[in-house]
Amino acid sequence: MFINYIKAFNDNYIWTIENDGEVLVVDPGEEAPVIDYLKNRKLDYILLTHKHMDHVGGVKELKNKYGAKVYGPIETKEYNDITLKDGDEFEILGEKFKVILTGGHTEDHISYLMGDRLFCGDALFLAGCGRVFTKDYKKAFEGLNKLKNLDDEIEIYPAHEYSLANLKFAKSVISNEDLDREYDRVKKIREEDKITLPSTIGKEKKINPFFLARDLDEFIQFRNKKDKF
Ligand SMILES: [Zn+2]
Repeated sequence: MFINYIKAFNDNYIWTIENDGEVLVVDPGEEAPVIDYLKNRKLDYILLTHKHMDHVGGVKELKNKYGAKVYGPIETKEYNDITLKDGDEFEILGEKFKVILTGGHTEDHISYLMGDRLFCGDALFLAGCGRVFTKDYKKAFEGLNKLKNLDDEIEIYPAHEYSLANLKFAKSVISNEDLDREYDRVKKIREEDKITLPSTIGKEKKINPFFLARDLDEFIQFRNKKDKF
């Protein structure tokens, strides 16, 4: 089993999981870079985390071209072959996937846990989290707490390269040595235009202000500050 990424738009990552000649992509916001990446191979599966166009924009074209099977939450039902809800489990590519509801960014945003790897769309980023477009901060906070309670070793694969901007914000509201070290690491990597992901749950517990928020009020406070940062 092999994980890779395809760059899309300015800062999206379309993650790929490949096993035994089968290929899966997560949140293909556009089709061209995926088709490019596949070359002569076919696409077997598409996982969707939520309905935003920079995550679903390529689905129809890819489904038509390859007959890929699409899994997603209720809010992407127009694309789905299989509609998922919190706690659902399924097995593809010889791997078990578990669905975790991480709403708030959108109503029905879900994340996928595959063994010790988490594909979390726009719910959780390195040192950040998604904007709460629904204004349901409680739901967003609860979703993040579910992720925070996963094992420290779990690797996280968010859908955007927001790490440097997130770390700049993080340094404005919290301070610790892990955060300083991570900032230096990420800054260097971004200067070379390379990828800063994946992160891990254990790392996020030390550097992510939205994981470190003591309660819902502080989470809302951080979120509002971040939106204006
Ligand atoms: Zn989004």
